Amino acid sequence: MKQSVVVLGGGTAGWMASAYLRAAFGNNIDVTVVESRRIGTIGVGEATFSTVRHFFDYLGLSESDWMPECNATYKLAVRLEDWRAPGDVFYHPFERMRIVDGVPLTDWWQRLRPTERFDHDCFLIPWLCDAKASPRHLDGRLFEQDFAEDPDRQPYRTTLAEQNTQFPYAYHFDASLLADFLTRYAVERGVRQIIDDVVDVRLDERGWIDHLVTKGHGELRADLYVDCSGFRSRLLGQALDEPFISFQDALPNDRAVALRVPVDTAVEGIRPCTTATAQDAGWIWTIPLLDRIGTGYVYAADYCEPEEAERVLREFVGPAADGLEANHIRMRIGRSRRAWVNNCVGIGLSAGFVEPLQSTGIFLIQHAIEQLVRYFPGTERESVLRDGYNLSVARAIEGVREFLILHYRGAARADNDYWRDAKRRAVPDDMAWRLEQWQGKLPDNDTTYPYYHAFEPYSYVCMALGLGGIPLHHPPALDLFDAARAQHELSRVREQAQALLKTLPSQAEYLSRLR
Ligand code: FAD
Repeated sequence: MKQSVVVLGGGTAGWMASAYLRAAFGNNIDVTVVESRRIGTIGVGEATFSTVRHFFDYLGLSESDWMPECNATYKLAVRLEDWRAPGDVFYHPFERMRIVDGVPLTDWWQRLRPTERFDHDCFLIPWLCDAKASPRHLDGRLFEQDFAEDPDRQPYRTTLAEQNTQFPYAYHFDASLLADFLTRYAVERGVRQIIDDVVDVRLDERGWIDHLVTKGHGELRADLYVDCSGFRSRLLGQALDEPFISFQDALPNDRAVALRVPVDTAVEGIRPCTTATAQDAGWIWTIPLLDRIGTGYVYAADYCEPEEAERVLREFVGPAADGLEANHIRMRIGRSRRAWVNNCVGIGLSAGFVEPLQSTGIFLIQHAIEQLVRYFPGTERESVLRDGYNLSVARAIEGVREFLILHYRGAARADNDYWRDAKRRAVPDDMAWRLEQWQGKLPDNDTTYPYYHAFEPYSYVCMALGLGGIPLHHPPALDLFDAARAQHELSRVREQAQALLKTLPSQAEYLSRLR
């Protein structure tokens, strides 16, 4: 008998999961997605992390297959504005750190400081973002020569397990267009789609899900139920009553208000990055798509009323916001104690969410799906598989939590209660030790969160240098080195950037050709 899976929910999580399960197992399992037309999707979640290309590659999709259909753009970095002080800007690029004489270039930068901008001195991507350039030449070649894209070199499908592949970019896309695209992909490959409401969940005598009751399609039974029902957590949280571990003691933002702002990108250009602009009670995201900007204010209800947040967002956007309808969202910040309980796995918002900073929601979905494929249940040893899965996904989200705490803790900004309180909140014990270590030496493998959570030590380095609120010093040993080679590398970054800016097309031009 074939194993069967019912996925509850047709948002980004539901369709990513179904498409991926189909790509992984083909016809060897049956997959059914049930989604409601009455209950909407969250309607945000449009910036991704640089691991996401593994997902599309695994599905056998090239950029020209899906990007134009989803109004997608490239994302090379997160641009952080006003986190240190008003007017301050720095980038967290998806670009590996250069090493000189065994020492990361940013350590050298601390000693040599050719300018006050570590990002432009040490990386190429900030230059491309400022210039709204494409990461690809018009013939499709990537700007980063070291990055191998030869398909013959990787005839197999890669996953996050190949953690050494750091793609130099991620994407922005229209989440509802992506869900439509993945629906077609999955349905064409045999996934069954049911449009209906699940109105009840029946458990058996062991407390496992026996079946779902729908309004118009009767009972749905499966070996495994994947809960992608969003913050409602209809199966994992409601039916199975799995406890939820809140992260709000450390990360207080629990609301957002979002707008979709039409924009003429041919005129404005498309900056290839997400921008995160600090505000009095949180921060505002700016996500450029082909035909519009997705923007929203993420804030803490303890510090700001929804009406005030909407006013601030509209003022930030300017006249283009006039007449647009705002989407107010409550966020549940934290994770289910276990994401996989009995015969139910929660993926997406139903199982946990940290907050949108650094765009980790879709990364956590991708990670969970990949882990589900690795730990997919059979007839025996299921509890061992469940434990392995739960440990892996819990570690990933806890790591993301720690990385995001750094943003508030490490921001020099302390001009009101929101930002001052951010410095007083308790941090996890291990993180307190790590924060101390960074004052003697920038973060490295030994002094960052030790389990896989996508962020590499260089990301922590960028944040520590950019945020400006943690006292940092270069390692004393560097003063004993000859700095000539490091000086040379710092000059080389600048020269390479100038050369690239002369040859790369704008992102708007490249994407119009891709269409
Ligand atoms: P949803 O989109 O809420 O989908 C839930 C689905 O379940 C819907 O189809 C609904 O119809 C269905 N459903 C629910 N109950 C029932 C029922 N009883 N019967 C039938 N169907 C049902 N992530 C990123 O990676 N990058 C970002 O930039 C980003 N920004 C974000 C900004 C905000 C403010 C928030 C809150 C989240 C953001 N995220 C981001 C996270 C991202 O939006 C989500 O991880 C992603 O959209 C997945 O959502 P989901 O599919 O889990 O839930």
